[in-house]
Amino acid sequence: MNTEKYLKLRDEVDGLTEQLWSEHKSNMACKKGCDMCCLNFDVFPIEFDHIKKQVQEEYPDVLDQELPETVGEKCFFLKDGSCTIYDARPIICRTHGYPLLYMNETGDQWQLSHCELNFLKVDEEYFNEDNCYPQDTFNSRLFMMNKEYISSKYPNKNEFDLISLVNLLK
Ligand code: SF4
Repeated sequence: MNTEKYLKLRDEVDGLTEQLWSEHKSNMACKKGCDMCCLNFDVFPIEFDHIKKQVQEEYPDVLDQELPETVGEKCFFLKDGSCTIYDARPIICRTHGYPLLYMNETGDQWQLSHCELNFLKVDEEYFNEDNCYPQDTFNSRLFMMNKEYISSKYPNKNEFDLISLVNLLK
């Protein structure tokens, strides 16, 4: 099984975030250099494998770096306020800055969240279920897709196993 399904999901996310950008851009302060969201993320194997292939093709120089002995909180691939693997970045990074819709911990109510450094001029009333990114819906689809992927490719992994993005350097 290849990672084509992942790429389709990622394209869908990009399409949706483009729409959200059109809707929210006049209220968003997020810009290059605003990188507090750029943390050292772990991703599912299906996403890791696709990113690795794309980085090998498009950003080969990035892979010449040594794997650091310790990784800090910030993403290793963030340099001078910019993402060095931008076109290959994971889905979570593609939603940075947008308002999010997700289910609460008890699973009985939808909740909205937004970055307060980003949306400076709006109140809570501004957000609704139609103008936010449905994070759990996409995460569930990615989870199921990864489950199918690892069952054929990595039978020893379980469905919750994640890989740190910095392992691209291995
Ligand atoms: S992959 Fe790029 S966008 Fe994602 S956290 Fe790292 S530097 Fe930021």
